[in-house]
Amino acid sequence: MELPFAESWRIKMVEPIRMSTRAEREQWLREAHNNVFQLKAEQVYIDCLTDSGTGAMSDRQWSALMLGDESYAGATSFYKLEEVIKRLFGMQYVIPTHQGRAAENVLFSYLVKEGQVIPGNAHFDTTKGHIESRKARAVDVTTDDAKDTQLEVPFKGNVSLEKLERVLAENRGRVPFMVLTVTNNTVGGQPVSMENIRETCALCHRYDVPVVMDSARFAENAYFIKTREPGYADKTIKEITAEMYSHVDAMTMSAKKDGIVNMGGFIGFKNKEWYEGAKLYCIPFEGYITYGGMNGRDMNALAVGLDENTEFDNLHTRIHQVQYLASKLDEYGIPYQRPAGGHAIFVDADKVLSNVPKEEFPAQTLTCELYLEAGIRGCEIGYILADRDPVTRENRFGGLDLLRLCIARRVYTDNHMNVIAAALKNVYDRRHEITRGVAIEWEAPLMRHFTVQLRRLG
Ligand SMILES: *Cc1c(COP(=O)(O)O)cnc(C)c1O
Repeated sequence: MELPFAESWRIKMVEPIRMSTRAEREQWLREAHNNVFQLKAEQVYIDCLTDSGTGAMSDRQWSALMLGDESYAGATSFYKLEEVIKRLFGMQYVIPTHQGRAAENVLFSYLVKEGQVIPGNAHFDTTKGHIESRKARAVDVTTDDAKDTQLEVPFKGNVSLEKLERVLAENRGRVPFMVLTVTNNTVGGQPVSMENIRETCALCHRYDVPVVMDSARFAENAYFIKTREPGYADKTIKEITAEMYSHVDAMTMSAKKDGIVNMGGFIGFKNKEWYEGAKLYCIPFEGYITYGGMNGRDMNALAVGLDENTEFDNLHTRIHQVQYLASKLDEYGIPYQRPAGGHAIFVDADKVLSNVPKEEFPAQTLTCELYLEAGIRGCEIGYILADRDPVTRENRFGGLDLLRLCIARRVYTDNHMNVIAAALKNVYDRRHEITRGVAIEWEAPLMRHFTVQLRRLG
């Protein structure tokens, strides 16, 4: 008999969680104005809000904390982290920051000027925010594959070379760099192929445009290259990572994802000139250059996390779990962005709650229903997040309306996946009875999804 799959770790410390009653959840969700961001974490049974900073550190990472060097300047912890970043990514210069958006803030303060254009494969929202707040424009050049959630293609996060070339040709002299995001978070944690990385970088370099890799989930991307792209099956994750980064010029990293730490980030540079330029913004925004936004112990834990999470077994355990959840949804016929991404399942709420009109926010309604069903907290990535058109102030209903279920790294077991799938099935089975959604009672003028207050209709 073939042995079944099992995790590549065992559990040394546990954290109790408690299932609530439906009556409790109804009251809590009302008090939270039908916005799951407003819930207290203890009111949640299984938390799939985000995979950011929610991973479980290993015993090696916890022990590395104890060896943290908290010296203000030149701490050994900085040099440990720098050594790992040089070795894995070939980045010769490193600035630690407190998280990914801080890396963007420091680098873009140096690089981005008013009127410039920065192409990218679906810029993450903070990335876009840091471009737009400097009066520059972020232009999406992702392939159209991702718009169809049911299309099965292996690298749905890819850059469209035609779209990219058009932007580069029409904006000569106005493109300071391109942002290549791996995996492509915004379209569902979908990977970018090595071939596409190579061709994208070659095209940019032909136009003298450097490439910055937005690297939050670089290791998951490397896993997909190994398991899906011809020619990579026998290469290690570390070899694939080195090849991915051989093509780009710099990187920003939210270490809260594939670094498996609760807080942290960094910028890596190959080019000394950019490093020298960005350094000037690190000191006022983040801190002195050998700690930036991090303390010594966290730099130590990150150095270990990067090394561990570029090992196949660790990534295989993780992505296997996301795919396991996807296989349960397949069994129940629940539609999601296919194939399953690296860090989350994106349920196609428009298709599930097809009786709820767009104007009543189906994905937000599904988010509420799943919480009421079993205390599971997902997150709307849909019409509420898409916000209003800045000029007409109309809601933007043009994109996808998804319920994102993020899976924290090394935190939940496959039994928790079974609960998530069963709860979704229960909601799915009564989808025809759900005909009314939610209405906005109050919203902030910007980034409304965090604080929006909603009323349940019907
Ligand atoms: C999370 C994320 C960021 C921002 O990082 P934070 O650590 O949350 O500030 C940037 N880009 C991508 C692709 C991300 O997923």
